[in-house]
Amino acid sequence: MIVVKDLKKNYNGLDVLKGIDLTINKGDVVCLVGPSGCGKSTFLRCLTRLEEPDGGTVMLDGKEITERDIDATRAQMGMVFQHFNLFPHLTVKKNITLAPVRLGRMSQAAADKQAMELLERIGLADKADVYPNMLSGGQQQRIAIVRALAMNPEVLLFDEPLSNLDAKLRNQMRAEIIKLRQKINTTFLYVTHDQTEAMTLGDRIVIMKDGFIQQIGTPQEVFDHPANLFVAGFIGTPPMNFFDAELVGRGGHYAVVLDGMTVELSENKQQRLAAKGVAGQHVTLGVRPQHISLQCESGSVKARMDVFEMMGSEIHLHANVNGRDMVIIVPTTDINGNYSDAFTIGKEIDFSFSGSTCHLFGNDGKNLEF
Ligand code: ADP
Repeated sequence: MIVVKDLKKNYNGLDVLKGIDLTINKGDVVCLVGPSGCGKSTFLRCLTRLEEPDGGTVMLDGKEITERDIDATRAQMGMVFQHFNLFPHLTVKKNITLAPVRLGRMSQAAADKQAMELLERIGLADKADVYPNMLSGGQQQRIAIVRALAMNPEVLLFDEPLSNLDAKLRNQMRAEIIKLRQKINTTFLYVTHDQTEAMTLGDRIVIMKDGFIQQIGTPQEVFDHPANLFVAGFIGTPPMNFFDAELVGRGGHYAVVLDGMTVELSENKQQRLAAKGVAGQHVTLGVRPQHISLQCESGSVKARMDVFEMMGSEIHLHANVNGRDMVIIVPTTDINGNYSDAFTIGKEIDFSFSGSTCHLFGNDGKNLEF
């Protein structure tokens, strides 16, 4: 439905988009995620023609957008912004019907009927005649989405809709949007800098940095198989731990050596590395905090305890390995509640990791397996 090829945008000599390729199919829920300033909003603005790209093409339903009527293109793309932008002096129903009636899309009666159907679908029919300030933040958000839907857009574009909210409301609204997307069958392109939002909302995640797409995949794919160091460190909380290590390959068999401890890689990893003919080399070893173990049956590495954070069901242990910080997640059930004794600050601890859940990155930062 939307096919973007080699999209480029430059502001005053600064290359913000350096060649973006992305295909969005009908019904897709795609999250575009990346740190602030990486070009996400510029990308959205190029799609909606609020900016003219400097290169590349954007096809909507098979036709280049510059050859389409600009108003018709924008009407096909409903926008939901950070600020809900509801009119405070209009009732909920009026907020929803205003644009379609003003733009001559439908009569007031038809727009009213559609508004009631949409409100019914999101469980807010009883709020049709109230004003926005009588609604909770979550309800206002839903109304803003319904208002965008009232124009019957082919795709809904969300530009960081939750970033102004406090953490609790943000979690609630994230859940609201997940529920909503199950009720309305529309294509979503959701832009956020928050990887948790992207992981929970997207069927597909597009990770962007420095004007390039770093990886596209399902949440599970980008979590399990990050394409490079940036994606590995950006996706997942707390972030992945990184260590300097050696990959050793003897007779087509690979192991990783960290601080004198040798860990054999899993069969899958062996095969992927062998298929690519990867040579033994110095690597950055990545291990997620969830995958570090304090049970060390066959060898261990020493670390020094810094602090621990009691999170309720788990403890986040911060430790130091040869000057590098690392985080270990320990389920509280593992230590029978006696965590103060177990984790004294400054104490030396032993840890290990498994050859099936570690990640290996080469000199150029790319995942050596893919
Ligand atoms: P994001 O949405 O990922 O935070 P933006 O697309 O807003 O990033 O911005 C990407 C880069 O482009 C930033 O360095 C920003 O300063 C720059 N930029 C954005 N809009 C303009 C503009 N109209 N003029 C000049 N520079 C801009």
